[in-house]
Order: sequence, then C-alpha cells, then structure tokens
Amino acid sequence: MRLLFMGTGTSHGVPMIGCSCPVCTSPDPRNRRTRSSLLVTYRDKNILIDTATELRLQALAANVTRVDAVLYTHFHADHVFGFDDLRRFNQLQGAAIPVYGNVGTIAELKECFAYVFRGCPPKGCSKPRVIPRVITGPFQLFGLPIQPIEVYHGELPILGYRLADVAYITDCSSIPPSQKEFLHDLDVLILGALRYEPHPTHFNLAQALQVIEELNPRRAWLTHMTHAFDHAQVEKELPGNVRLAYDGLTIEA
Ligand SMILES: [Zn+2]
Ligand SMILES: [Zn+2]
Ligand SMILES: [Zn+2]
Repeated sequence: MRLLFMGTGTSHGVPMIGCSCPVCTSPDPRNRRTRSSLLVTYRDKNILIDTATELRLQALAANVTRVDAVLYTHFHADHVFGFDDLRRFNQLQGAAIPVYGNVGTIAELKECFAYVFRGCPPKGCSKPRVIPRVITGPFQLFGLPIQPIEVYHGELPILGYRLADVAYITDCSSIPPSQKEFLHDLDVLILGALRYEPHPTHFNLAQALQVIEELNPRRAWLTHMTHAFDHAQVEKELPGNVRLAYDGLTIEA
C-alpha cells in the first residue's frame, strides 16, 4: 500500500494570507502546507481521504490521474471543498465515484451540493458524478478492509479510518476507549497535531505524542499543522518513530 500526503495543512493553509512569520516566509518547501488529504493506493486503485480545498493543485503536483473512491472524515470546508474537482476524474474514468462518510457528512454533502444530487440535465451536464454511501460499520474497498474509527472533533463526531495496518485520524480532540481497540498493532498512524498551544477541537503536539505513545504504532506521521511548526525544528523534538508529514511525501506501508 502506498500513502501520498496530498496536503498536510490546517484550514488556513501555510503560508497564511497576510502572515510574514518565519514559517510562512520559509524557503523550506516542507513548510508549505495545503489543506489536509491522503491518497491511498492499493492494487492500482486510488482511495482519496477527503477532497481538500486545493484538490486540483494537489493532483497536478503529484500526477494523480485516478480517484476510485473517496472517504470523508467530516464536513468542514477544508476537507470537502475540492469536491467539484472530482468531475475531472469522472471524465477520465468514465464512471461515477463512490463517496463514503458518516450519516452527518453525507447529509451535509447533499445539502451543500444540492445541485449535484438533483437529476442531471440531459445536455451540458458538468457536475461531479458521485454515489453517496453512508458508513454503518466496517467494509471493504477493492479487497482492502476499512474500519471506521469514531472520534470527536470537539463535540462533533467524525470519522478516522483504519485501512489494513494504517490509520488516518485528523481533526481529532479525543478518541473514545472503545475506538482505541481498533488501533492496536498499527504499522503507520497518521494523526492530526495542530500546534503547540492547546485547542478546543484538535490535539496539540503534546496530546498527539501522548496518543502515539499509548497506541504504540511502528511509525507515526503528524499532519493538519499550522504555521506554528517549522518542519526542520519540530522534527528535532520528536521521538524516533514520529515524523512530520509534508505535502507530496509518499511512504510505503
Ligand atoms: Zn480540518
Ligand atoms: Zn505565519
Ligand atoms: Zn475540522
């Protein structure tokens, strides 16, 4: 399984508009973070986790030409608003794309993109063609076992995902004990870590490191990061099995 970090930034992205801090003006390309998303390639199928705001730019940068399914974590703008860019993959593949999420995410998707879910006009139709699927438990995609992980983003219940021995959990501020049961024996854990300071709806760095220590995956990468993190500097502070992700990073799992 190959993992490609399409984006690793928080909702504002890095650099932030109108910020001249050392990270926002850094020449290190690892300090440029588009909105967070992960592409999982398994048996020549591409599973995209979230359609981040810069989906088109991310796909061009990484030469991604297929999306076979989308798994949504939740319906915040930074995770959803690349949705319209799925049209291009519809054209390339000549097929609709299944999109998975919890009941709330699929409902919000239908409300926000109501024009997509109305009947398609016979001519000049240029809307994403998707098949909405509400997740009610574990399932398989292209032979890959998918375990939804129900976590909290402040008070909002959202989904993380375990795909075989890889887990992706972003925008999380607490993981219920019942869900930690699904996170043992991981090869790779990808976890959101917003910044050093505490935040009401996201793990900060100290909390994320605590979760990693508790779950004890073989390797961990942090994502969904603000401009508080200078890549090279923060990596020096991390335990040996934990790294910061950056846009365009690929890892084999
Ligand atoms: Zn987010
Ligand atoms: Zn900044
Ligand atoms: Zn969010």
